Amino acid sequence: MTTGFVHLVGAGPGDPGLLTVRGRDCLRAAEVVIYDYLANPLLLEEAPADAERIYVGKSRGHHHRPQEEINALLVEQALSGKRVVRLKGGDPFIFGRGGEEAQVLRQHNIPFEIVPGVTAGHAAAAYAGIPLTHRDYTTSLSMVTGHLDASKDLDHIDWAHLGAGSGTLVFYMGVANLARIAAELISHGRPASTPVALVRWATLPSQETLVGTLADIAAQVVQNGFKPPAVIIVGEVVRLRNELRWFDNRPLFGKRILITRSLDQAADFAARLRELGAEPLLCPTIAIAPLHDYAELDAAIADLADTDYLILTSVNAVDAFFARLADCGKDARALAGVTLVTVGPKTAAALAQFGLCPDLMPTDYRAEGVVALLRDKVAGKKILYPKAALARDLIVLELTAAGANLCAPAAYGSAPPAGAASALHTALADGVDLLTFTASSTVRNFIDLLRTDDLPLATAIPVASIGPLTSETARQAGLDVAIEPEESTIEAMIEAMIAFFSKM
Ligand code: SAH
Repeated sequence: MTTGFVHLVGAGPGDPGLLTVRGRDCLRAAEVVIYDYLANPLLLEEAPADAERIYVGKSRGHHHRPQEEINALLVEQALSGKRVVRLKGGDPFIFGRGGEEAQVLRQHNIPFEIVPGVTAGHAAAAYAGIPLTHRDYTTSLSMVTGHLDASKDLDHIDWAHLGAGSGTLVFYMGVANLARIAAELISHGRPASTPVALVRWATLPSQETLVGTLADIAAQVVQNGFKPPAVIIVGEVVRLRNELRWFDNRPLFGKRILITRSLDQAADFAARLRELGAEPLLCPTIAIAPLHDYAELDAAIADLADTDYLILTSVNAVDAFFARLADCGKDARALAGVTLVTVGPKTAAALAQFGLCPDLMPTDYRAEGVVALLRDKVAGKKILYPKAALARDLIVLELTAAGANLCAPAAYGSAPPAGAASALHTALADGVDLLTFTASSTVRNFIDLLRTDDLPLATAIPVASIGPLTSETARQAGLDVAIEPEESTIEAMIEAMIAFFSKM
């Protein structure tokens, strides 16, 4: 059997965006991923679905797997011919025992590569707004372990050297020993007034920063119940945080915001929330589902030769219509004489995938825009408008009133996606600051998916609703609608969310 290969990959400090491109490529090709407590589990989604994932971090009893066991596991997996990614928090060669793991691989003649990662100290400084070096404050930087296992480590630290200069010091694993670290630095020459910052869970929406001086930081840690994992940054550069703070003062920083809309519609919303510092929790309560009965749509497709207009107002409608067209044994040529109308650029792009361009597209990308565009053209014309089952509809009402002969069959249905109930339960158990609903259907499905004993949790969380109809459904379900924008758009809803949290 051929020997496998081990990629020792730095996962970065937490924010999945801080993984290197090389690290991502390794994960995508992995057959086995062996990962730690400090490596963000979201990164595992990069690995193929059938790759084996082995967790070697803290177990429930807060017990680390002994390093010997991890080494043995690495060797065993690699010798069985596997492509192994050993994913380690931060950088593998900075206080990560990556050096020891690589030595063991070398002893067994197992080929390996080392992919560096953004180490916690660098990341914490960047995300706290503290430049580790600055010409006006310091010319050097030391990275130091604050680990006191068997107490010998700390005694090996050259306190005289660290205390003497004015260089920036970054301690890893030092929170438990902070009182001793501060005392050693003061007694070896650092002024007691030297500023110190502790940064916990750096780069994540749960990042917390505590600032003090060598004199008072240990007491502050006790007072605030500040817990690891955190890095400790010591030096005059810490003062620059007042000027350079940029991450943990974002308007929605740290807010855990539940998104109930369908996954395909959630991406832009989630990305915008992330930019504002929030942690979007994707719990789609709705997904596109096939219909039980296509008779009405099939009849309309059989009648395309006599159809004047085809209106498509969503990417889902485009996809569902063309899928059914194919099922009926036809293709885009069946639309030869039909005027194609899309609601906006996204539906036009979806249409382009079938080699077609829209003939008409409103400037206002909403149902209102479609109505305004067609109202004067369609008296006596036959219009096909495939849409979502059960969708309430302005286009049907208004164009029928304008004298059109409207055929509006359902082209697709919707249902809660698999796993929705357990995702929701987990999110609520971990804590949610805001629920968001962008349609009445998402509210109804949310309530249906909720475990009975979670209902009191859900009704205690403020709700952001996109508009009056959705709010009404939410209130009837007993939810607490705290946010409803004047204009029913995601952007306006986000603005209203910012205003809401700024008042808290
Ligand atoms: N190899 C890792 C360090 C592992 S040692 C790296 O390069 O970052 C573990 C220590 O790293 C923790 O005790 C803590 O001091 C620090 N650490 C790791 N991730 C962190 C994070 N997201 N925020 C703050 N400190 C972190």
